[in-house]
Amino acid sequence: MTPLQPGSTIGILGGGQLGRMLATAAARLGFDVVVLDPEPDCPASRVCARHIVAAYDDAAALESLADACSVVTVEFENVPAGALEVLIARGVPVAPGPRALSTAQDRVEEKTFLNTAGAPTVDFRPASTAEEAIQAAAALGGRVLIKTRRDGYDGKGQAWAETAGQAAEVFRSLGARPVIVEAPAAFRRELSIIAARGWDGAMAAFPLAENLHQSGILRRSSAPAEVEPSRAREAEDIAHRILAGLDYVGVIGIELFELQDGRLLVNEIAPRVHNSGHWTQDGTATDQFEQHIRAVAGWPLGPVEARARVEMENLLGEDVLRWPGLAAEPNARLHLYGKREARAGRKMGHVNRVFPL
Ligand code: AMP
Repeated sequence: MTPLQPGSTIGILGGGQLGRMLATAAARLGFDVVVLDPEPDCPASRVCARHIVAAYDDAAALESLADACSVVTVEFENVPAGALEVLIARGVPVAPGPRALSTAQDRVEEKTFLNTAGAPTVDFRPASTAEEAIQAAAALGGRVLIKTRRDGYDGKGQAWAETAGQAAEVFRSLGARPVIVEAPAAFRRELSIIAARGWDGAMAAFPLAENLHQSGILRRSSAPAEVEPSRAREAEDIAHRILAGLDYVGVIGIELFELQDGRLLVNEIAPRVHNSGHWTQDGTATDQFEQHIRAVAGWPLGPVEARARVEMENLLGEDVLRWPGLAAEPNARLHLYGKREARAGRKMGHVNRVFPL
């Protein structure tokens, strides 16, 4: 794709904090951003050039987004497939494309793709009935994590079954919807790699981050993670295989388990910028948001080497009330999302504490 000229317009489906930070990065490179999001006061609406307030399946609104933009991207993976079809039919390039999104929307399709692409995962089985869930759990050794195939996020839509017998009850508690039954990953720690691919196939991966989750929500990331160089190369190879396998354009977040024996398994992929990549805003010359905008705009990818060590802490709910103290910390950079209401567990902002390498 011919590089977009500064002054061109980029569309984003979704106006949450990721859309807000993407829009800010795009503006710094001279682009205008149009956001489509049903929420009139969404975080991105206050930093973008134009906000189309409409549902993601509103065909007329999608057409007007397509007409206004040279390329359209997304800030969340659960965009209805039909929305992308409307955009593409209207002639606007969409990155990442429908295949990457549909793969990431369904945990069974996702893990099936990953294994085919040479990116190892835990053993898993699909199940659509309580009986199938019991059989899957028994086949995987009894204790399993059961997740809804679709629409889960931040640890929602998943629960452990301690025995195969319990799998039926867990299946019902998740709404008796199609699920994936996963073998437990005995991980030493959770890592992630954020990588990008351009329209021309060029790829670049940021250094690994080490992540700490509580109740399924990311609390802290620390980067660059301390890993053997061979392990870092292995993670990069995995990222390259996934990006190439999906013919992907843009930034992708890849969550990894590091097992006790050092092997890496992929937990899941997020076809977008990722919370565990927020450290790059203060740790690399090009952050993940700018990298994504560069990729979708057909610009060269920017440098990804760490220039600092960063400890990122998510500010959930009332954590955000600590902003005066955080603002006074000399090595802390505060990133707030402009959300009006600090509901419990809601991602309100994050702080990057920056240290020399
Ligand atoms: P997910 O929604 O798939 O990202 O899962 C949320 C969190 O649950 C992960 O970050 C892990 O801490 C944990 N988790 C997910 N899958 C597994 C698994 N198969 N074995 C052990 N822990 C898991």
